[in-house]
Formats: sequence, C-alpha cells, structure tokens
Amino acid sequence: MFGSQADTVQVNGELVQLDFVQKHGLRNTYIKFRDSRLVVVARNRRLMQEALETHKHWIAKHYAEIKNSIRLFDSNSIFLNSKRYAINYVFSSARPRSDMSGSAITVYANSPDAANRHIDRMIRSRSERISGEMACRKAEAIGRRPSSVKIRRYRKWGACRSGGSITINYCISMLPDDLQDYVISHEVAHLIEMNHSESFWKVVSQLCPNYKSLRKQLNHYDSRKRNAISL
Ligand SMILES: [Zn+2]
Repeated sequence: MFGSQADTVQVNGELVQLDFVQKHGLRNTYIKFRDSRLVVVARNRRLMQEALETHKHWIAKHYAEIKNSIRLFDSNSIFLNSKRYAINYVFSSARPRSDMSGSAITVYANSPDAANRHIDRMIRSRSERISGEMACRKAEAIGRRPSSVKIRRYRKWGACRSGGSITINYCISMLPDDLQDYVISHEVAHLIEMNHSESFWKVVSQLCPNYKSLRKQLNHYDSRKRNAISL
C-alpha cells in the first residue's frame, strides 16, 4: 500500500533530495517541499516523473525561495523571538506537551502528526498573544483601536481591512522582536491611512522609527511554515 524511496532531482543546477511516496489508489499526485527536500506523493513512478516535468517551473521557483530566505522553522529547530531552539521529539503515549529548557524544546507526543499539531498550537497561541497585545498598545498610541486582531497562515505578513480588523501572519512569533514590531506598526498605521502614501509612512515612522531598514530585513524571512517532520 505504501512505499517510499529516496532519490535526487536537478533543480536550478543543484541536486535536490527527492522523496517518492507511493500510495496505491491515489487519484491525484501531490508535490511539496519538506525542509529542502522535494516530496512527491503519487500512485506510481511514471506519474511522479510526469508531475516533476509538468511542475518544473513551480519546483524551481519554490526551491529558489527556500534557498534564499531565512527559515523560521524546520524539522529540527524553531526561532522564537530571535532565538533558535533545537526541537527534540519524544514519542510516547503521553498527552502532547512541550518543555523549553536552555536552547531546546522537547515535544512529547504519540505520533509525528500529533507533535506537529502541538507545535502549530504553540506557535499560534504565541502569535495571538504578541499580535493582540502589541496591536492594541500601538493603536492606542495613535488614538485608534482595531476592531479585531486575528492570526492567519498566509504569504503576507499582515493585512488591515477598512473596518479596522487586523490580520497577522501565523509565523510572527518566530520573527525577531524588532521585525514583529515593524509588521504590527505597519498594519496599525493602516487604521489611519488605508494606503501606502507618504502620510501612511509618517504614521509608521511614529510607531516604529527604524522601519526602513526593518522593512528590507523582513524580505529575507520566509513567511510560510511549509514543512513538517518526516513521515
Ligand atoms: Zn500595507
């Protein structure tokens, strides 16, 4: 029913590890990156080869993005507020939980999926707390109040709707503190100016004086948590 084979494939002139996961009876073929390995889940090797050919541009683009950006999370480590923690997994029947000590996080769970879900919840709750607190504090400084502050997984770091609802990327808690500050300042400034005009940037500079260099730095960070631990 289930088979996996390690291989390599050329992407942008580099040899990339390819994991072929064979699943009989599967209708579609799936391609994704896990860390910097390419994973193809398909019914057979012929369909895998076809998918590699059909999606070669997508693969090249995503691989370049992965190589050129700072990863905030991978199977073995996670950044939390500028500090990198190694992740150790302990698989047991225990309820999922984690301990942080020194520069390591130990995740206890009964399966890789449960461990991933636990890490997701941990990232999400930290991101919710950071965004909620910081957005309200910054909005108060300019005499506004967001109607809501939500966390979402997406490519952008943040968004602000005209009704005053702010959405912040799920990965924010993994960014360095000063970049968190910039992301929130940017969205809060939209509570006054719903555009990127000069007066908008003036509000941003009030909330985050160093915004110009932080804005450039932010471009180097990967805004998507796109990997999980190996199956
Ligand atoms: Zn904006």
